[in-house]
Amino acid sequence: MRTIVWFRGKDLRLRDHVPLAEAVAIGDVIPLFVLDPFFFAPARARDAPHRMQFLLDGLQELAAGLERRGSRLVLARGKSVVVVPRLLRRFRADKVVAHRWVEPFGRERDRRIAEQLGSRFQLYEGETLLPPGSLRTGSNRPYAVWTPFAKAFRAAATIDRPRAAPRRLPPIPPDIDIPRIEVPRCEDLGLVRNPRVLQGGERAARQRLSRFLRDNLVHYPDSRDRLDLAGTSRLSADIKFGTLSIRSIWSAVTAVSPTASRFVDELIWREFSYSTLWDRPGLLREPFNPKFTGFPWIDDEARWARWTSGRTGYPVVDAAARQLTSEGFVHNRARMISASFLAKHLLIAYRWGEEHYMKYLADGDWAQNNAGWQWSAGCGCDAQPYFRVFNPILQGRKFDPQGAYVRRWVPELAKLPPRYIHSPWEASTLALKEAGVVLGQNYPQPVVDHPAARGRFLALASRHLKSN
Ligand SMILES: Cc1cc2nc3c(=O)[nH]c(=O)nc-3n(C[C@H](O)[C@H](O)[C@H](O)COP(=O)(O)OP(=O)(O)OC[C@H]3O[C@@H](n4cnc5c(N)ncnc54)[C@H](O)[C@@H]3O)c2cc1C
Repeated sequence: MRTIVWFRGKDLRLRDHVPLAEAVAIGDVIPLFVLDPFFFAPARARDAPHRMQFLLDGLQELAAGLERRGSRLVLARGKSVVVVPRLLRRFRADKVVAHRWVEPFGRERDRRIAEQLGSRFQLYEGETLLPPGSLRTGSNRPYAVWTPFAKAFRAAATIDRPRAAPRRLPPIPPDIDIPRIEVPRCEDLGLVRNPRVLQGGERAARQRLSRFLRDNLVHYPDSRDRLDLAGTSRLSADIKFGTLSIRSIWSAVTAVSPTASRFVDELIWREFSYSTLWDRPGLLREPFNPKFTGFPWIDDEARWARWTSGRTGYPVVDAAARQLTSEGFVHNRARMISASFLAKHLLIAYRWGEEHYMKYLADGDWAQNNAGWQWSAGCGCDAQPYFRVFNPILQGRKFDPQGAYVRRWVPELAKLPPRYIHSPWEASTLALKEAGVVLGQNYPQPVVDHPAARGRFLALASRHLKSN
């Protein structure tokens, strides 16, 4: 038996890679990665520079790991739907195996390949802990609310132990004569490497997991929402690119700590987002709550520019915007505050923000990002109710009490005392002067007045939802 193991960018690992392990057990293996222009055309790579960097790190390590074990990663260029069936024939392989994707465009790609290869194309579960779409309500419908989903998940989940990486791999069969292509580097795709983005690859991912288990898991319930503490795992990009399998995280976390349930909840939120997108592929285009269809968002380019560049005058919103473009990551609480601010305070379509986040996040993930944006805008699955509008000042004071998060990302406010750091316009002339802040010059006045913007959104939303 000769199997092509098709790595597809969301499973860049050798540990707990079931399609690989099963292929090794039954014969020859050809590990394949396709440089599909859908992602690797320079213009597409520039649209996701941090994700691409993280992916290339993972790909390089994967290629090196395969070589160390006696095999090698075969790279091919071209559209997957054309290249993969062609290589199956050219390599005289019996089948192609890969992990399933949830996104509608990935499913369409797989449908087109299955149309050509039939049973010679085999998809494995593994991106999620339970196959997406496998949990159903009593009336056999997809869940729309997280709490019952989580309950059903906990009742159904028996998660197998992760598999070890194969110690040795069979060499690539000698008749595989495809010209050798090296794993591209950032520069090859016209990108400048950003040293502030986390290192990708299996080794860095495992180190992050170990550090989190050792230092932070036990404090996670108290520190996960704090913007000023490194209280979360920072595993999101590893999960997204599969440099750690989700069940290896689940197993490690649940084995180490009986207090892990708060962290496990977050993994179940992820399952929920994936399951939701599986059942409702249209969500990448439209709101979950149909009453939000046609919402009169405002195409306000000037305010959009202030939000994206971190110059809204609301320090915590600005810190999030700058963290995003600087290091390709934003703390979850800051994502919620800043997404809510864009949609509700500025009345700018959440889709704009969703796209902007997808461009810069290293962990940018279609299912999760869409769910996060729809939740924050109030139109999503189990969204917070539309009338709950985050107050960026109070959120800042609660989750960044001394202002360390703001000081780091908005250095022009660094010298303000904690009581004004989240509302510099409330500071006395003397306090501003001592901190070197000149509002309207080196830091902007607020782009909108919080109570007025909140009132404007509530009035508009209630009118729209009533009439829809
Ligand atoms: C507007 C918005 C956009 C988002 N976009 C993304 C995205 O593109 N990619 C992404 O991975 N997450 C996204 N999230 C969810 C969350 O913010 C990140 O997963 C989290 O901040 C990653 O940091 P961490 O790994 O340290 O999280 P931890 O707190 O350590 O959580 C561990 C893991 O659980 C999962 N998780 C955590 N929080 C959530 C959540 N609220 N919903 C679903 N899964 C969660 C993630 O896989 C995360 O890595 C978004 C949230 C919002 C509000």
